[in-house]
Amino acid sequence: MAAASSELKKLRTEAKSCTRCPLYRNATQTVFGEGPAGALLMLVGEQPGDQEDLLGHPFVGPAGRLLDKALEEAGIDRNAVYLTNAVKHFKNEPRGKKRLHKRPDHYETEVCRVWLDSEIQVVRPRLVVALGVTAAQALLRRRSVVISRQRGRPVTLPGGGAGLLTMHPSAILRTPDRAGRDKAFRALVADLTAARALLESTSQRPRGRRRQPE
Ligand code: SF4
Repeated sequence: MAAASSELKKLRTEAKSCTRCPLYRNATQTVFGEGPAGALLMLVGEQPGDQEDLLGHPFVGPAGRLLDKALEEAGIDRNAVYLTNAVKHFKNEPRGKKRLHKRPDHYETEVCRVWLDSEIQVVRPRLVVALGVTAAQALLRRRSVVISRQRGRPVTLPGGGAGLLTMHPSAILRTPDRAGRDKAFRALVADLTAARALLESTSQRPRGRRRQPE
């Protein structure tokens, strides 16, 4: 596991100076994934939000707190999970003193996938969960994904690994009414519970080969 930790550290350092797409220009810093190098479960979100951009860690803002709650209810230890995003810089549009979130486009997601692919190759999780459409598009390498049609069920990722799709917790926060938010939260917990069950059912299978250091 020491080799994987050191490879992740190297990737994180390299990603700090990434200028592959224009998103680095308008963000504070690269927000790389975090978690154990030997994590069995990887969660992939869309991109860092305002607080993540400022603090330099993934899922530490309001959506991250909601995700923590959902993980706890699903019986998943956040500290055992590798958390990352499909895109590593915060795409935003300044509006007065605020910075409004903007969804990364197909080009940005494709270009940034080099980092996500590397994280998957080093960590070799048994299951990768996509939180939201952008993560699902990056992981499935498709331009169009409808989460509601596929959520909570196992999918095979293009590289052969196991995946599962669910919604991003920020979508729950954007749901205007309390009843809708509660329903969406329960659905997220159900999908994460399905992820845990899937993980447990594959616990005897060997992992894939680790990426060779360059
Ligand atoms: S968003 Fe990704 S590809 Fe674009 S500059 Fe940042 S790290 Fe590089």
